[in-house]
Amino acid sequence: MHSTWGKRLCRGYLACLLALGSLPVWADAPIVIGTGGSAGVYLPVGKAMCELYRQATGSACQALTTGGSLYNASAIRNGDLDFGIVQSDIQYALSRGTEQFYDSGPNESVRTLFSLHAEAFTVVAKPPGIRNFDDLAGKWVNVGNPGSGQRATLNSLLEMKGETEDIFALASELKPTDMSRVMCSGKLDAFLYVVGHPSQAIDEAIRGCGAHLVNVAGPEVEALIEQMPYYGVTVIPGGTYAHNPDDIVTFGVRATLLSRKDVDEERVYQLVKAVFEHLDAFRRSHPSLVTLTPSAMVREGLTVPLHAGARRYYEEVGLLPPGSE
Ligand code: GLU
Repeated sequence: MHSTWGKRLCRGYLACLLALGSLPVWADAPIVIGTGGSAGVYLPVGKAMCELYRQATGSACQALTTGGSLYNASAIRNGDLDFGIVQSDIQYALSRGTEQFYDSGPNESVRTLFSLHAEAFTVVAKPPGIRNFDDLAGKWVNVGNPGSGQRATLNSLLEMKGETEDIFALASELKPTDMSRVMCSGKLDAFLYVVGHPSQAIDEAIRGCGAHLVNVAGPEVEALIEQMPYYGVTVIPGGTYAHNPDDIVTFGVRATLLSRKDVDEERVYQLVKAVFEHLDAFRRSHPSLVTLTPSAMVREGLTVPLHAGARRYYEEVGLLPPGSE
């Protein structure tokens, strides 16, 4: 009798736990991970993490489409989101209270889990004459939707140059899903995107109307890389996109998974464990993840303390020495 009842209810891990009355506390609410726009890389990466978490724990997990890093960072700070993918430069600004977070001051509650793929500050242009970032002066440029990370990174570069968005004849705020269509209809010369490669939105602009990638180099870029702990030289290898055979040199950040100190330790531990124990499957889920290594994921691009749940896992498997921060 008991076994028939059990069999009927035990259709999945969560159902079994409920039936046996042993539901762990961390499994009671779904995990929601803030990602980016539907044409970006954050969304498939968030979905892949959710899938691994679901398979490992039987608990629900949702990768939420959002405006991007800036939105996710603010939502984590406010408690509207517990997890989000955030560019490493925005992670830094949120915790130190600089740049976009100057008014709200330093934030000590933000915690990180691990870093993800490298993201390049990417300029895509249609007119053949645009070959370097400085050629964008006087052009129609999409600077990024409100809440996106690229807008923030652009402003850091412009500030270093002593310029503002006024150098562009038009600074539009289209979402990634609309950028290539508007460019190909002739209403946009270029768009900026801080993103992992290959990216669907960029591929569409290249195939749709012969757009090309543009170098972002010069003394201000070198100064940014030298002065800021989260920027590095980034090369988009030639051949990543059709008709773009040359290497493109720019600067970039890493995507990171961010949370808050008060988020349940066991849930964070289970999420980290699900990803690290199935790293091969995770790497295969998107081309921008293929080069991820456990040691880079726990070190690179992280400028705030690790969440206690993440640190527990890394210490357990020997990725970090006991007592690390
Ligand atoms: N880096 C972008 C941002 O923070 C998002 C890129 C993506 O969705 O892959 O807004």
